[in-house]
Amino acid sequence: MKMTVAPLPVPHLPQAQPLLSVKALTSHYGRIQALHGVDLAVHAGQLVALVGANGAGKTTLLRAISGVQPAGGGIDFMREDISRMAASRRVRLGISQVPEGRQVFAPMTVEDNLKLGAFTRSKAEAAQTLASMYELFPILKDKRQLPAGTLSGGQQQMLAMARALMASPKLLLLDEPSMGLAPLIVREIFELICKLRDQGITILVVEQNARAALSIADQGYVMELGRIVMSGPGSELLSDDRIRQAYLGM
Ligand code: ATP
Repeated sequence: MKMTVAPLPVPHLPQAQPLLSVKALTSHYGRIQALHGVDLAVHAGQLVALVGANGAGKTTLLRAISGVQPAGGGIDFMREDISRMAASRRVRLGISQVPEGRQVFAPMTVEDNLKLGAFTRSKAEAAQTLASMYELFPILKDKRQLPAGTLSGGQQQMLAMARALMASPKLLLLDEPSMGLAPLIVREIFELICKLRDQGITILVVEQNARAALSIADQGYVMELGRIVMSGPGSELLSDDRIRQAYLGM
């Protein structure tokens, strides 16, 4: 039987209704305002890329959506206002984040790292998802008994993605998956991201590698100094002169 990581079905969501809708989001670090009223929507099944220079506020936005960064404004997920909800409840609702820098637990085995990702699920569900993760990421199966710290950067990125998928999310948030990886490995990671989207997982990916991210994205957003300054289909943004000059070095 071919196993997939198909997410739990999204109930009663009309096509026009976004899965995630962020409205006028603000966020501060002390007196520094990192987000200045961000609006963004992600529809079920979409792969959405958020690109922008260093310090634009991309990580802050993802962390505000997953609930580990305080924020003002609105965040609706499956038509429910989650903006005041604890991060752990957002995971249970179906939002799972792969943090910047992967943050795998180096001394723990690959398999134990994966099991940590399933803290919201029953043992039987976790075992079933673990099997599908090993099918999707065969290298993790080969290395399941090794400490996660012995994996290469690309393998650790796969582990971090698989760990987030262990929660069977409806929305996967990916922060800089290509960071620090060689070009060949970056290509492999982006192919995997496309494969996840093809399996029905909704993805919001933050990337400094704008070309790679926009070339696979259904929808793209460009962020500058805490604001969304442009949005549109990934292919349209890729061919936009302003984007080409500012982010693609052309
Ligand atoms: P990067 O690609 O470098 O992660 P980014 O687009 O994700 O950049 P953020 O990390 O969200 O940007 O940072 C947005 C703004 O908030 C920046 O001005 C940054 O200096 C500031 N900032 C981020 N984290 C903190 C912090 N812990 N304390 C103070 N300011 C912070």
